[in-house]
Amino acid sequence: MNIGTEFKTDTSFQLFNKLTEFDYEQIVICQDKNTSLKAIIAIHNTTLGPGLGGTRFYNYANEQDAITDVLRLSKGMTYKAAISGLNLGGAKAVIIGDPNKIKSEGLMRKFGQFVENLNGKYITAEDIGTTTKDMEYVRMSTEHVCGLPESMGGGGDPSPVTAYGVYVAMKACAKSKYGSDSLNGKKIVVEGIGKVGSHLVEYLSKEGATIFIADVNEKALKSVSSQFGATVVDLADVHGLDVDIYSPCALGAGLNDHSIPQLKCAIVAGAANNQLANEAVHGQMLKDRNILYGPDYLINAGGLINVYTELNGYNREIAMNKAADIYHTMAQIIHISEEQNVPTYKAANHLAEQRIESIGRLSLSY
Ligand code: NAD
Repeated sequence: MNIGTEFKTDTSFQLFNKLTEFDYEQIVICQDKNTSLKAIIAIHNTTLGPGLGGTRFYNYANEQDAITDVLRLSKGMTYKAAISGLNLGGAKAVIIGDPNKIKSEGLMRKFGQFVENLNGKYITAEDIGTTTKDMEYVRMSTEHVCGLPESMGGGGDPSPVTAYGVYVAMKACAKSKYGSDSLNGKKIVVEGIGKVGSHLVEYLSKEGATIFIADVNEKALKSVSSQFGATVVDLADVHGLDVDIYSPCALGAGLNDHSIPQLKCAIVAGAANNQLANEAVHGQMLKDRNILYGPDYLINAGGLINVYTELNGYNREIAMNKAADIYHTMAQIIHISEEQNVPTYKAANHLAEQRIESIGRLSLSY
């Protein structure tokens, strides 16, 4: 047998070009035939601390999609940790395959072993397709895991902390737009009243906001509207609603060529990930329409803050206090955006990059 001839050279996907362009540190490809584990761990940047990011278990159409996703997500984690003032870098893992078909205790423990081999440079957690139970299995192989159940010292459901971060960011935006950060009497529409959205509605209702809600889940709508006196509106009417604040808390890419021209609000602040369909285009479009946008990765960082708090022994009060800082960071971003006449997403990116650069110059080592 002529070993190696079965490998063909495919020049269409230039991995190292991608890694160089955005300065990724390390990519680890993990394979285990016994358990059918195929995983990729991407460590984007560890200037501020170990790379923390969840493990996504997903049936990708092909390997290139999986690599693209893990690269994109790990870079996003670098920015999220940096802007949130955490001593963490950015990393992420993906496991390729249908979790309903191939996930097993053995696979998760084997994956944990690969995480362990990185000696703490990567800390994993749950994400789409993985659960706290899976993290219990990972924990059997490595200490470098968080997002554990409360019974194991974990932080439990991060949604209340995420909702609190969105709430305080909304208040910082209101302060800039209206001169007061009170949301009393403000008309606010929350799109998506799942784990985060429903907690957010609770905060808003306590403050006396006039709340509108929309969701695909009729049962959730009924329950949240009766609990907090929120008015149910049609999903199709959400963007054009005459409100002060629009809060996307369901799916990504909701701010696009179609929705932005319809908006009547002064502020967009929600928990959904990747809200801008095209960051540069739609971030600018919102600014041109004088709509203040709370950058998603900053204002929904409560989830990351929650797992970060686990690293030194979990305490919900500490997590909430840290999430409260989002108010000040949001205010700082608004200031930069106004001073430099740039969209808020750009101001956020600058601030995150600045922190990495300035801490990087200290030549700390971990
Ligand atoms: P969830 O699944 O609990 O809630 C999502 C809600 O959106 C559900 O009620 C669902 O019915 C609704 N929904 C689904 N499709 C919809 C549609 N087309 N239009 C309107 N509503 C629709 O999720 P969650 O944990 O509340 O997270 C909400 C968003 O915030 C997600 O984008 C998530 O990635 C992001 N996020 C969540 C956290 C967290 O701590 N949970 C942290 C950071 C970011």
